[in-house]
Amino acid sequence: MSDCLSPHLPEPEPNHERLTWFKASKESRRRTLAWTCHCAVIFHELCAAGGQSFLRRTDLATDEFYETHRMRIRDGDALWLALLEGRAR
Ligand SMILES: [Zn+2]
Repeated sequence: MSDCLSPHLPEPEPNHERLTWFKASKESRRRTLAWTCHCAVIFHELCAAGGQSFLRRTDLATDEFYETHRMRIRDGDALWLALLEGRAR
């Protein structure tokens, strides 16, 4: 029995898109729209700020935070879906 309510990421596809992750600060101004399950050491969020969106990755093991570049909201939605389906990481 699992308490997990949020999705877990699958293994990425062999030819998945490699995203560029920029180091980010622990606190960043953002609205979190969706997230993967926090039971994993690394979890991801779909975030929005200033009318743009981006993905954020938190590594609890190393206490490091990363974000993608800012993009249009609908591109962020598409990238989030690609992440959840293992087509991007
Ligand atoms: Zn979980």
